[in-house]
Amino acid sequence: MQAAPLLVVSLALAFPSLYAQSKMDDPSQIGNRDVGKGVNFYSQEKEIALGKQLAQEVQRQAKIVDEPIIAEYINRLGQNLVRNSDAKVPFTFQVIDSDVPNAFSLPGGYVFVNTGLIELAEEEDELAGAMAHEIAHVAARHMTREATKSQLTSIGILPLGLLFGGWVGAIARPAIGLATPVTFRSFSRADESEADYLGVQYMYAAGYDPTGVINIFEKLDALNYRKPAGLSRLLATHPMDRDRIQKAEKEIQEILPARAQYVVNTSDYHDMRQKVFAWEARPKPPEQPHPTLLKPTEPRP
Ligand SMILES: [Zn+2]
Repeated sequence: MQAAPLLVVSLALAFPSLYAQSKMDDPSQIGNRDVGKGVNFYSQEKEIALGKQLAQEVQRQAKIVDEPIIAEYINRLGQNLVRNSDAKVPFTFQVIDSDVPNAFSLPGGYVFVNTGLIELAEEEDELAGAMAHEIAHVAARHMTREATKSQLTSIGILPLGLLFGGWVGAIARPAIGLATPVTFRSFSRADESEADYLGVQYMYAAGYDPTGVINIFEKLDALNYRKPAGLSRLLATHPMDRDRIQKAEKEIQEILPARAQYVVNTSDYHDMRQKVFAWEARPKPPEQPHPTLLKPTEPRP
């Protein structure tokens, strides 16, 4: 019986979150837990193919920022978060020229970040929090699990395209510049909560100050009040509210062992963000007429 206390001590040293209720509450178990489980009609391969197809549609219609410093930085930040996540698929990160502070993900690892979100996120840990949330949606396979559910309830009606509303909630098509009719769905409240919960762990595991996500949540919450006409409608389906903020605060206090140091901001982030402001301020060529924009309901050939 003498060995028992020793065993407990060594376990406590090995696993700081020994008191976590399950692997899902334990950031040291990231990568060792099946967060994407659940009924799913899509194989991993089919999910990646679906995401690729949707991503090509986004790339065709949205204005992708091809400025190399911005593109390289966002990809580097994203891949660092992916390495500290439960995701099992390769990821692609791209920046969209849009002043709406949003990011969204597609099935199979395609993540898009709007310039408006980079402008809102004054510190790197804030943007990391938003991107980690999107990575969590992919890791948990929320899109295909939701699509599976909707197919279960309406057998025979296959969605032509599913785009989820991004981390600030369901968005209108113009918000990402899409003209083609696309079925927009919002995540369930439970999926949003799970993405918040996992995303906070991923940014923490990547070394960021997890309170960065609280800062960006609060900025979005403030925008929600300040711009009642535009953004609040945008945020209405998945409100950025006190409840989400409080849940994240509670998670940080309860399951994340405190660290001596966190990454809050970097000079690379500062420099990249200045490039974004410069990109937005640059003289732009006149808009080319876009056939699908003129006739948004006409089926494409
Ligand atoms: Zn979300």
